[in-house]
Amino acid sequence: MSNKTATTLLPEERKKSFREIHRCYEPHQAYLEASRCLMCEDAPCTKECPAGVDIKKFIRKIRFHNLRGAIREIRKANVLAGICGRVCPQELLCQKECSNTEIDIPINITALQRYVADVDFKKGPRPLPGVSSKGIKVAIVGSGPASLAVAANLAQKGYEVSIFEAEAKPGGLLTYGIPPHRLPPSATQKEIRYIKKMGVNIKCNTKITDIDELFKKDFKAIFIGVGLPGARKIGLPGENLKGVYTALEFLKDVIENKCKTKKTKIGKRVVVIGGGDVAMDAASCALRLGAQRVDLVCLEGYDEMPSSPEERRISWEEGVEIHTRVMPLRIIGSKGRVTGYKGIGIRWRKPGLFIPSNAIPIPGTEFSLKVDTVIEAIGQMPDTGNVKGFKRIETAGSGYIVAKKKTFKTSCPGVFAAGDIVNRGATVVQAVADGNAAAEAIDAYLKRKSKHRVTSNQ
Ligand SMILES: Cc1cc2nc3c(=O)[nH]c(=O)nc-3n(C[C@H](O)[C@H](O)[C@H](O)COP(=O)(O)OP(=O)(O)OC[C@H]3O[C@@H](n4cnc5c(N)ncnc54)[C@H](O)[C@@H]3O)c2cc1C
Repeated sequence: MSNKTATTLLPEERKKSFREIHRCYEPHQAYLEASRCLMCEDAPCTKECPAGVDIKKFIRKIRFHNLRGAIREIRKANVLAGICGRVCPQELLCQKECSNTEIDIPINITALQRYVADVDFKKGPRPLPGVSSKGIKVAIVGSGPASLAVAANLAQKGYEVSIFEAEAKPGGLLTYGIPPHRLPPSATQKEIRYIKKMGVNIKCNTKITDIDELFKKDFKAIFIGVGLPGARKIGLPGENLKGVYTALEFLKDVIENKCKTKKTKIGKRVVVIGGGDVAMDAASCALRLGAQRVDLVCLEGYDEMPSSPEERRISWEEGVEIHTRVMPLRIIGSKGRVTGYKGIGIRWRKPGLFIPSNAIPIPGTEFSLKVDTVIEAIGQMPDTGNVKGFKRIETAGSGYIVAKKKTFKTSCPGVFAAGDIVNRGATVVQAVADGNAAAEAIDAYLKRKSKHRVTSNQ
């Protein structure tokens, strides 16, 4: 359920370019939307925000035209205000329980948050209050939203924070995953610049392969937010043909080459395999790059798909043909290139368990699609190179870091971890929320450590 359409480009217009599809509210629109808020006594929206933004409070400040106060309120809990105002799946989070739903459509909370952040960046944001330097160094590995939240929190507490990022630009999937029509690079870079101004040092093109090296350089605590840079593959016959890509490599190519592609080549007929938001992003990018037809095939039924209802609606409006409850059988090729896709209809053995091993093919429902490009979007996984580099840290499955629930402590003293590498892939706002909590735990650990040093020296 969403009411973003009032400020959204029409589907035909959207497909022509990578222009951001949702426009920012005009001041009168923001004021009117804020005025619809019922100011609930025990606001259910705030309870559903993983980062704990006091939504009622910031909306009330918009009503009183106190936009500086509103952004301060949001940033207290979420330093990536403008980014989450664009990409948060609000219909599954804060908006889900909006009391307005019973009498009207729910409040467009993310659009209001984005409005406040955009206005603030236009005016020139004010730094959050900080304290003087403690002279204690903390290292952060990776620069995605989890790491950025940790960095901002610790810098405000007076720590000397250095982020090490393997890629050429900071931001993680904000920079290399979410496509520009949903999250323009300028919106991400503004927020990263804001965090840098707090004194956070970001060193790009620096892949950390051994955390012990960081301890030797006098970092007193380490945070690991390396995300899931590996792309899963199905293991289908024909997967090695030319014209088969993973969604991550395709989206990175589109973003790195400013809405063109160099390493991947999108043909006229594309099939995307997967039913999540990443699959929707790949499909919408293929359309924008000139594909005449994009089919999306997934195991799940329409209401079982992991993508957010909003992203699904957008893809459908733009003309993506969605085939539900189908399973891929093979990728067909000729002379080393993709020429088709073969799939079959399925039913579930056990209801409610949407995984390949629970799917039963339905005889007689085989079908083929004539395609020249296949994009696999079936999920991400840890980088196995990282797992070796962090050998002292306990991992599970194919390299996910094991960290304590509330403190994000790993099995290695002084090392903390959060974000996708721990929660196995969630959302930007969840990464921020976990990063906030990890920063608190790092602060407590370092305070304990310095207290211990003082008492043992006496
Ligand atoms: C295509 C796509 C679209 C998405 N859309 C949405 C959306 O609309 N809304 C939403 O809420 N969520 C969305 N997500 C999910 C969201 O982006 C992630 O949950 C979030 O980015 C996870 O943050 P993170 O900080 O854990 O890791 P990441 O963002 O993955 O960042 C990890 C960083 O660590 C770096 N790194 C890895 N190893 C090393 C190393 N050894 N040394 C140094 N650096 C290293 C990586 O290069 C990367 O920059 C999307 C994901 C994808 C793939």
